[in-house]
Amino acid sequence: MTDGLRIVAGDCTVRTSGAREGAHRGRVVVVHKPDDTVLVHDATGYQPVAWLTRAETVWTDEEGGGLTAIDGDQRLRVEPHDTTAADHAVSTAGQPVGDCPACGGVLVRADGAVDCLDCGEHHGIPRDATVLDEACDCGRPRLRVERGRAFEVCLDRECESLDERVRAAFDREWDCPNCDAALRILRRGGLIAGCERYPECDTGFGLPAGEVVAECPCGLPEFDTGTGRRCLDPGCERASGERGDAAAGGEVAE
Ligand SMILES: [Zn+2]
Ligand SMILES: [Zn+2]
Ligand SMILES: [Zn+2]
Ligand SMILES: [Zn+2]
Repeated sequence: MTDGLRIVAGDCTVRTSGAREGAHRGRVVVVHKPDDTVLVHDATGYQPVAWLTRAETVWTDEEGGGLTAIDGDQRLRVEPHDTTAADHAVSTAGQPVGDCPACGGVLVRADGAVDCLDCGEHHGIPRDATVLDEACDCGRPRLRVERGRAFEVCLDRECESLDERVRAAFDREWDCPNCDAALRILRRGGLIAGCERYPECDTGFGLPAGEVVAECPCGLPEFDTGTGRRCLDPGCERASGERGDAAAGGEVAE
């Protein structure tokens, strides 16, 4: 498996053995997908001239951008003939959100990340975060994220930690509904409010994306998620109505 989609584009010889034995040479586009599917496209038709779907193993040469894919008795080998063909990383295509302070390149936001198109600086961000126009002292854009209330933090966790801000606001703020010990703010993939007596008590709830607007009759906070209101406990039946579809599903923010 590879981290992202990679392409080799240019003058290449493509050799295949196994069921589709042969060799092609031309200015082609070789697409290597994260699931190790390799597709070799030329200028004609919609079908690749050579391909291996979800190959067992794919490796790229350390130099020159050549690539070999093997699946059972099928083998596909790409040999570039000029260095310009070698190995372009296909970038994220996202919405421009600012300039990269490290290299002056363009930062784009796509889904759960902000990436620099030039130097590859990468920041995972919560999917529900809003990237603000405002820049941090470090030069990166700032984010707005709702976890109980709205927090504005730097894009770069090393510069400013969302977790610390949320912890400062809500650590030990609520009591465990099962044993009355305090709920701590912890990161388990996403941020959760989990019982401090873990592992004796394994109560834990993902922190919803939204602001605390009330106290649920069960004693836990109630969140306005934008699509409805819900108790911190997605299974709570005492929450005060207005539960939208998304809220009823108990979705949890990252
Ligand atoms: Zn950069
Ligand atoms: Zn910063
Ligand atoms: Zn507990
Ligand atoms: Zn409740």
